[in-house]
Amino acid sequence: MNIPFLIEKKRDGGSLDEPEIAGLISAYSRGEVPDYQMSAFAMAVFFRGMTDAETAALTAAMRCSGRVFRWPAGSPPKVDKHSTGGIGDKVSLVLAPLLACDGLWVPMVSGRGLGITGGTLDKLESIPGFNVRLDEAACLRQIENLGVFMAGQTDDFCPADKRLYALRDVTATVPSRPLIIASIMSKKLAESLDRLVLDVKFGTGAFMKSREEAEALAAGLTAASDGVRTSFLLSPMDEPLGRTVGNALEVREAAETLQGHGPHDLTALTLDLATAVSDSPREALAKHLSDGSAWKKFLALVGAQGGDKRAFESWDTFHPAPVVAPLPCPRDGVVATMDAGTIGAAAVQLGAGRRKTTAAINPAVGFSGIRKIGERVAKGEPLLWIHAASDADADTAARSVRFEIGI
Ligand code: URA
Repeated sequence: MNIPFLIEKKRDGGSLDEPEIAGLISAYSRGEVPDYQMSAFAMAVFFRGMTDAETAALTAAMRCSGRVFRWPAGSPPKVDKHSTGGIGDKVSLVLAPLLACDGLWVPMVSGRGLGITGGTLDKLESIPGFNVRLDEAACLRQIENLGVFMAGQTDDFCPADKRLYALRDVTATVPSRPLIIASIMSKKLAESLDRLVLDVKFGTGAFMKSREEAEALAAGLTAASDGVRTSFLLSPMDEPLGRTVGNALEVREAAETLQGHGPHDLTALTLDLATAVSDSPREALAKHLSDGSAWKKFLALVGAQGGDKRAFESWDTFHPAPVVAPLPCPRDGVVATMDAGTIGAAAVQLGAGRRKTTAAINPAVGFSGIRKIGERVAKGEPLLWIHAASDADADTAARSVRFEIGI
């Protein structure tokens, strides 16, 4: 395979055909294409884009670069959701057990925090003992027993994406729509799903800043769905979802939501997404939250993956932050706007996310009690609580987050 010719063709605005893309990805997976050539190819795609057909071919080639889940004949419908990433987005923790209560199978392969957005695996790992590294046999066993697993990408699951993603991260080629689509959809299609729902976020706390950009991404993701019944929601991310940001804090809020008393926006979005992949009416899905069955399923999932279920009896004692300080409201008024992006960036700064891929996460830090847009707040009342490792970190966070108080 003449790799320089393929790079040149893309660089000059041409389209690659399916065998060319399949050959490139298969050679890359075998270690026969050096990273410098793949970087040049990614940059050519960044500038020239890809047609829908090229994006579909890239998605299929990356999906087939490793093992693809095979489910027993006659097993329940396999469903999942993907979020393009937001601040305080703990929906997966609630949605996966909820859908399993509905009799569906949920083979959820999740990721870690990316940029200012949090990741499901980091949140789950704040549960003592929780193991996100499951091999295929363990995944199958657990889904047969419980209808759900929540695990990370293994070395043989879409390895071409794993390598290419790491390369994009250091070559300024992450924000390329076809590369994002192929990366996300190759992993979802490797789960061998029947139905998928996409939560495509837009706003100050999302990668897509405008609704139009989010619509274009949603259309591209749906076009690459290769026969999997795929729907999407466009959801605003101008304020964090729920009232917490930070790993252990978000797990606590997810636990409350699973027990039927979570914040309205988190509960509503979870039910919207669940309704998109389930055949049951919304009321029946909501009942799994109010009658305790989704919570029981979550605890069973935690137990099956080595987590300490008793941790939830005294959750706050597991991850106490050394400093918990309020951010007082400067005057009487109504929260007019806030910048979710600054809250996400401040959470990363506190240690809830990573600035380097190898950095450790501090599960205790973040924000709680976040006031929502439209809420009335009196002068001196907290706009949020800062959970920090030190007074200096708390001060930095207090200076970083932005709220506008109207009258
Ligand atoms: N998430 C992914 O898995 N891949 C991307 O390229 C972007 C977000």
